[in-house]
Amino acid sequence: MRRGDLLYVGGEWIASTGNRSIAVVNPATEEEVAAVPDGTTEDVDAAVRAARLAFPAWSALPVAERTRFLAALRDGMAARQAELAETITAEMGAPLKVATNVQTGLPLQVLASYLDLAGTIGATETVGNSMVMHEPVGVVAAITPWNYPLHQTIAKLAPALLAGCTVVHKPSEVAPLSTHILAEIAESIGLPAGVYNLVSGTGAVVGEALASHPDVDMVSFTGSTRAGRRVSELASATVKRVALELGGKSANVILDDADITVAVKVGVANCFLNSGQTCTAWTRMLAPASRYDEVVSLAAETAAAYTVGDPTDPATRLGPLATAGQRERVLSYVDRGAAEGARLVCGGREGTGLPERGYYVAPTVFADVAADATIAQEEIFGPVLSIIRCADEEDAVRIANSTQYGLAGAVWSADVDHAVAVARRLRTGQVDINGARFNPSAPFGGYRQSGNGRELGRHGLEEFLLVKSVQLP
Ligand code: NAD
Repeated sequence: MRRGDLLYVGGEWIASTGNRSIAVVNPATEEEVAAVPDGTTEDVDAAVRAARLAFPAWSALPVAERTRFLAALRDGMAARQAELAETITAEMGAPLKVATNVQTGLPLQVLASYLDLAGTIGATETVGNSMVMHEPVGVVAAITPWNYPLHQTIAKLAPALLAGCTVVHKPSEVAPLSTHILAEIAESIGLPAGVYNLVSGTGAVVGEALASHPDVDMVSFTGSTRAGRRVSELASATVKRVALELGGKSANVILDDADITVAVKVGVANCFLNSGQTCTAWTRMLAPASRYDEVVSLAAETAAAYTVGDPTDPATRLGPLATAGQRERVLSYVDRGAAEGARLVCGGREGTGLPERGYYVAPTVFADVAADATIAQEEIFGPVLSIIRCADEEDAVRIANSTQYGLAGAVWSADVDHAVAVARRLRTGQVDINGARFNPSAPFGGYRQSGNGRELGRHGLEEFLLVKSVQLP
């Protein structure tokens, strides 16, 4: 049997107790590339037992030992980076360049950042007559989506393992293959049995069994707000810790003194990265009235120049969407945008130049989008940009804060201090000023319905630690 046909539980590759599998389809070719087991609740029970059994010894290992395993995991992933990137391209359609630089490059950076943080684990604080200790939360269920499958896994696995937790992981049924490679690497470096367990399957069965399992201490979930709510509901029965990383509808606030050319080009690139399937995508471009026409024509021109097509072709900037269902969902939003009165200035349902096969959507830009229109409020998760006219800065801040989400955002201004002052007023977990680069050590997470957890860096590590006070006589 191929490894992809099996689950990785308690350090062994085992068959699911069910006899069903889930096909993994290449969204560029529409062909099945692999199948993974459709895991069962019995599989979840076995994996949780294995993780529970492994917890005492793993959490008692000196941090230096756990760090050695993380370093070996990073080396193993680096050695197989090209294969991991090709696998992710095949399972969810990211252009190879994105699969290399972001999908696999970023998790390597995240692992490195946790190796740097290893020295901070186990430190105690003194508060009056108390010693305050930090201890691992226990058995963690990690549930991850398909858009950055390896990155979202490592963003949970690295801090959880470093903290001393053991993990049962359910990857997305759409893109589970890179995590099978990850499990092979875990096995090859001799990670103790049960420390990392992989159970593929659906959210409805494996995901829900993990969220409600009485012997799981914490669920770390990344995915849609809809599924996050359900996970929270199920987890509440056993009062387990829940960390949610959910959707977004982030605003790119362009102030009237900004360098419009750079702000618009970078803004379009951010919105369309990974075919728009990025939770932090700046999908709303907030343009000042005084420069509105300039913004719209530049955005339309920038989007029209995107090369769409085969993700394995190095010239491609925009690959397909991950699934046929996702394409239909995105196109229904495109229809809704037009029906609600927005002006299509690029792409759309009839967008030309797309390959005949594959789940492609043309890079699409709508202008004159009302701040309360559906396409300005709901997460589309496709290459669709909504440009909204703002009367002034007050209006821009009000509109930026007017969705249920609060994950990311941007502010552009010739005056950085002014941009930071505006950033402070945005109810969102991160803001990039003038296109500043992503920082893999900075806390990452949402306000409002974008979630309640923090990943990456020290804040991400703290999610997996409990705090104990010991009073000294
Ligand atoms: P999804 O919510 O459909 O699925 C995410 C994961 O949850 C999958 O593994 C799925 O099988 C599982 N799941 C689904 N229903 C479940 C249930 N009832 N109980 C338990 N598990 C369940 O999301 P998706 O379509 O895979 O991913 C896209 C979504 O993820 C977008 O909304 C995006 O914004 C969000 N996302 C958020 C972040 C972040 O860090 N905030 C990062 C990436 C993606």
